[in-house]
Amino acid sequence: MDEIRELYQEVILDHNKNPRNFHVMENADAELEGYNPLCGDHYTFYVRYDDSETKRIAEVSFTGNGCAISKASASIMSAFIKGKTKDEAEHYFNLFHDIVVGKKSAADHIEELGKLAAFAGVSEFPMRVKCATLPWHTLHGAITGEDTTISTE
Ligand code: ZN
Repeated sequence: MDEIRELYQEVILDHNKNPRNFHVMENADAELEGYNPLCGDHYTFYVRYDDSETKRIAEVSFTGNGCAISKASASIMSAFIKGKTKDEAEHYFNLFHDIVVGKKSAADHIEELGKLAAFAGVSEFPMRVKCATLPWHTLHGAITGEDTTISTE
């Protein structure tokens, strides 16, 4: 288990240091700010859909600043969510939330979670839960048509 912990820690450190999809998106279909006043995490997320009937998420990018957990979560989410439908995004939003608050066990969903499982340990640190979930709350808001800043408070 310690080995897995270390591996997960490396995943988070890597995505914090080299965040994927970390840029402004021109011609985004949706764009929304997310703010976690508790920690100071503050990002803008951009979403572009593809032309298919189900409007799959073609691309998610983000800009902004925050702690390692929030930045890694945003980076991993942006890569993970590519190609998913809105319904699938909703499913993962709920699943990720249940994992980081400790309502569901990551071990029971390990294949489905992929790199998202790296955040399972966050459930032991209630102060960091909002850091990990801020990107997901903001993406969810962008997808459901929210137009005011998402705040975790
Ligand atoms: Zn934070």
